[in-house]
Amino acid sequence: LASSSHLSLPQTSALELDREHLIHPVSSWRAHEKRGATLLQSGKGAWLRDTEGHELLDAFAGLWCVNAGYGQESVVQAATEQMRKLPYATGYFHFGSEPAARLAAKLVDLAPPSLQHVYFTLSGSDAVEAAVRLIAQYNHARGQTQRRHFISLERGYHGSSFFGAGLTALPAFHRGFGLPLPEQHYIASPYAYRSAVGSDPLAIISASVAELRATVQQIGQDKVAAFFCEPVQGSGGVIVPPEGWLKAMRQACRELGILFVADEVITGFGRTGPMFACEAEGVDPDMMTMAKGLTSGYVPMGAMLMSDEIYQTIADGAPAGVPIGHGTTYSAHPVSAAVGLEVIRLYEEGGLLANGQAMAPHFARVLANLADHPLVGEARQRGLLGALELVSNKQTKARFDPALGLADRVFATGYRNGLVFRSFGDNILGFAPALCFTAEEFELMAARLRKTLDDVLDFADVRRATA
Ligand code: PLP
Repeated sequence: LASSSHLSLPQTSALELDREHLIHPVSSWRAHEKRGATLLQSGKGAWLRDTEGHELLDAFAGLWCVNAGYGQESVVQAATEQMRKLPYATGYFHFGSEPAARLAAKLVDLAPPSLQHVYFTLSGSDAVEAAVRLIAQYNHARGQTQRRHFISLERGYHGSSFFGAGLTALPAFHRGFGLPLPEQHYIASPYAYRSAVGSDPLAIISASVAELRATVQQIGQDKVAAFFCEPVQGSGGVIVPPEGWLKAMRQACRELGILFVADEVITGFGRTGPMFACEAEGVDPDMMTMAKGLTSGYVPMGAMLMSDEIYQTIADGAPAGVPIGHGTTYSAHPVSAAVGLEVIRLYEEGGLLANGQAMAPHFARVLANLADHPLVGEARQRGLLGALELVSNKQTKARFDPALGLADRVFATGYRNGLVFRSFGDNILGFAPALCFTAEEFELMAARLRKTLDDVLDFADVRRATA
């Protein structure tokens, strides 16, 4: 395509334009050029339709974000009303808007009691970046600028801002980006299926606490700023820690005098059962990041919540009248805030949170019933967040040879069977159905998923590779 005049030609398909001009997030650019995009056109409830007319049951809520399901009219109405009334209000110069103030108060009301102040962001990555920058500001304010080191979990995901991608412990986010930085450190994730200490919950918890302590001592206790973790690791392969793990890690951070930051970008807003995963164990973090379910993906927005102690220390530490230089044009965007308020109303008064909790056993059964499939090494789940880990040998837990290209083939087979889920490179299938899923939709998901795994096992090379 030589000139931009083609943009106005109706015969130029969106697929061609996409291939030619659009850089997709976290994708192999060359593979994308070859394969091209799948264009999604519309959605209703848990269902998606693509531009070729395929009807798909979305068992991944978009990108674990459309917790309220597609096509919620009241959300559309809240957005259009706010857009019509006032599409934009800056947060700079002491301006603000009513929806943003109300949403901040609502989040403080819903979040663990330790969290009293809200900074709105555009995404989860932006929320993580805000947390990191304001932790630096906090340590500056209390005269501890040597606290520059951060600890996170192996297989953790904390977005793709520069510093956040370094907290993320996935190779693709580091390779060629000059990451991790020397002040970024990782400890083993509480990955029962593949843990070096076995699958006993208490052993996993004490190993994590011991490794955190040892890592802090090794760096120097007065040099560590914070420990970041997801209450259930998402993009690292839906790794569900044993009950009590989060509370133990929080307590260890308190004893070590380092901040505990819960990254609830995926786990927030009913994904694992309660409104926030921290709630299940009575965990009160120093900071919390969230996004995704906050607006159910209808418009972009994230948030970073902090304790009153951190807030007051930063506020007191800043010279009178001098701005604290962190902020963006679209922080606390009124349209996003109006959407957030309505989405949360649907979770609470609309009964979606309760439906998600009631449906979790159905979801658990869908996964557990597949645990005996020849391809499945482990089924794991909490609330409406779950995974099937595929292995070539159930006894040795050996992964399939990457040369088989299984991840893409499982995804494509699922798609052909009318089911959308996440297929990670290491053959972990991730699931995050919307909170509006019905029992019938879970039955359909079970049938389509079993057929997908059976179809995949029918590939001659996969059957040969399966013990
Ligand atoms: N933190 C966690 C735990 C996430 O899962 C994600 C995204 O998946 C992020 C941060 C980054 O959020 P975003 O993609 O909105 O920037």
